[in-house]
Amino acid sequence: MKHNILEICYLIGSITFIVGLKMMGNAKTARKGNLIAAVGMIIAIFGTIFLHDNEVSPIIYGLIFGAIGIGTVIGWMTAKKVQMTKMPELVSMFNGMGGACAALISIIEYNHMQHGNVASTSVGELTAIMAGLIIGTVSFSGSIIAYLKLNGTMAKPVRLPKYNIINTIIMIAVLAFGAYMVITGGNMMLLYLLFAAAIIYGVLFTIPIGGADMPVVISLLNSFTGLAAAFGGFLYDNKVMLTGGILVGSAGTLLTLIMCKAMNRPLSNVIFGAFGGGAGTADAGAETNGSIKDIGVSDLAILMNYSKKVVIVPGYGLAVAQAQHVIHELELLLEERGVEVKYAIHPVAGRMPGHMNVLLAESNVSYDKMVEMDEINPEFDQTDVVLVVGANDVVNPAAKSDPSSPIYGMPILEVDRAKNIIVNKRSMSAGYAGIDNLLFYDPKCSMFFGDAKKALTSLVAEIKTL
Ligand code: NDP
Repeated sequence: MKHNILEICYLIGSITFIVGLKMMGNAKTARKGNLIAAVGMIIAIFGTIFLHDNEVSPIIYGLIFGAIGIGTVIGWMTAKKVQMTKMPELVSMFNGMGGACAALISIIEYNHMQHGNVASTSVGELTAIMAGLIIGTVSFSGSIIAYLKLNGTMAKPVRLPKYNIINTIIMIAVLAFGAYMVITGGNMMLLYLLFAAAIIYGVLFTIPIGGADMPVVISLLNSFTGLAAAFGGFLYDNKVMLTGGILVGSAGTLLTLIMCKAMNRPLSNVIFGAFGGGAGTADAGAETNGSIKDIGVSDLAILMNYSKKVVIVPGYGLAVAQAQHVIHELELLLEERGVEVKYAIHPVAGRMPGHMNVLLAESNVSYDKMVEMDEINPEFDQTDVVLVVGANDVVNPAAKSDPSSPIYGMPILEVDRAKNIIVNKRSMSAGYAGIDNLLFYDPKCSMFFGDAKKALTSLVAEIKTL
C-alpha cells in the first residue's frame, strides 16, 4: 500500500516537472510553471522520506530535516538577495551543487556496496555509479570555475600549450579509469582517485573557455548534472529522479544548441576555440578609425518626439543601471505623442538567456512590444530612431563585416539600417567580449553619454517640456 502511494507521488512529481517545464517556455506562464514543478518536487521528497520501505531511526530523520532546513534557508536567502545581473553566477553555483550531489550519491552507494557484497553488484549498477560520479564531478568543478569567471575572479581564459590535446587525453583517461572500475569492481581508494581525476578534468575543461561563452558552458554543464541525476535514478530505480534528470539533461542540451545557433558557432568552436577574455578592454577585433559625435538631451528629445517609429535596444547596461522603469516611462510618453515604440530583443543581450524579457516585464512592458531579433531586423529600415541603451556586443557590425573579429558570425541586431542611431552608455568602454564597436563611428550614430537611469530620466523630463 505504502509503496503504491509512493509510486503515485512519483508520477505526480514527474507530471508536474513536464507541465512546469512546458510553462517555463513562455514568459507569461513561467512563474506559475516554476511553482508547479516545485510543488511536484516537494511531493516527491516528502513521499520518499515518509513512504519509504526501509526503517529509519529518529537520528536519521533529524539529519534529513536538519539538512533540508539549512539548504532551504541558504537557497531562499541567496535567491531573494541576488541581483538580476548576478543570476548566471547563482545558476552556475546551484548547478555545481546538483553535480556534487550526484557525485556524492555515487560515492556513498559505492561505499555501501563495499560493505556489502561487491561481487553481487551488477555491471549496470556499477556503470550507473561510475557515470554519475564522473559526470556529476565534472559538472561540479566546471561550474565552480564558471562561477569564478562570471564574478570576475578568473576574468582571463587560462590556456595551457596544446590544451585541446591535453584535455582530450585526460578525458579519455578518466573514461578508461571509469570503465576499469566497472570491469574490476575497484576499491574505495581507486574511487577517490577517480573522483580527483574528474575534478581536475572539470577544471581543465572550463578554464580555457572565455567569459563571453560562459552561458553556453553553464547550460552544457547543466545538462551534465541532469544526466548524472538520471544515472542516480537508474541506481535507485527511482522514476521521478530519472524523469527529472532526463528533463534537465535534454533541456540543457537544447538550450546549449539554441545558444550556439544564436551566436552562429558550432559547440566545438565554443569549447575548443574560446573567445571573450572578459569585460572592459578593447583589445581584440577590428581597428577603429574615425571620430564619434555626441548628442545633447534637448536635441535628442526633439528628434525622438517628432519621430514616427522608435526601436529601443536594451542591453546589459540597462540592467546594471536598473533603468527598466524609466525606459517604460519613456515608451509610454512617446506613444502618447503618437510615436510607435518597440523593443528589439537579442537572444544573448544581458547576462543570461531571457534577461531582457524578464527585466522589461518587471516594469510592465507589454510582451507584444518585445520583438525577437529575426523579426525586428527587417523593420530597422523603416525606423527613424534606434535607441541603444547599455548594449554593445549585440549591435556590433564587426560580427558581420570583419572576419578577424572574435564575434564574427554572431547574428546581431542590425541597428545600422535605421535612419538615426543613438547609443547610451557611460564611456567608450568595451562590452563583455572586450572588443571595440564599429557602430559608434558610423556617421548616422550619436553617443548619448551617461548612466542609463540618469540619462533616460533627463530625456523623459526634456520630452515632457515639448
Ligand atoms: P555588453 O556587455 O556588450 O555591453 C554592455 C555595455 O553597457 C557596456 O559597453 C557598458 O559601457 C554599458 N554600461 C554598463 N553600465 C552602464 C550603465 N550604468 N549605464 C549605461 N550603460 C552602461 O552588453 P550586451 O547586452 O550588448 O551583450 C551581452 C554580452 O554578454 C554578449 O557578449 C554576450 O555573449 C554576453 N553574455 C550573455 C549572456 C546571456 O546569456 N545573455 C551571459 C553572459 C554573457 P560603459 O562602461 O561605457 O557604460
